Amino acid sequence: MPEGRCNYASLKVPITKMPKAGKCRCAGSAPGLIVYMFDKSEVSINDSKGALKSYKDSDITSGNTIIRQFCSNCG
Ligand SMILES: [Zn+2]
Repeated sequence: MPEGRCNYASLKVPITKMPKAGKCRCAGSAPGLIVYMFDKSEVSINDSKGALKSYKDSDITSGNTIIRQFCSNCG
């Protein structure tokens, strides 16, 4: 099964369903960019090393507060 991962493989995301290529090209709009879009219910993050961290970001143009997540090993 293919999987995505961060630079140090602390976070891994199994890819259980490959999107159709045509939709990826439309979403990325560039020949050198790979963007996969999944429904949130189709995504799980394996964080066996406890590297996933999150913070609240309220400095966005909509004025809303969102939760951003990142790998604390990669930065
Ligand atoms: Zn990482």
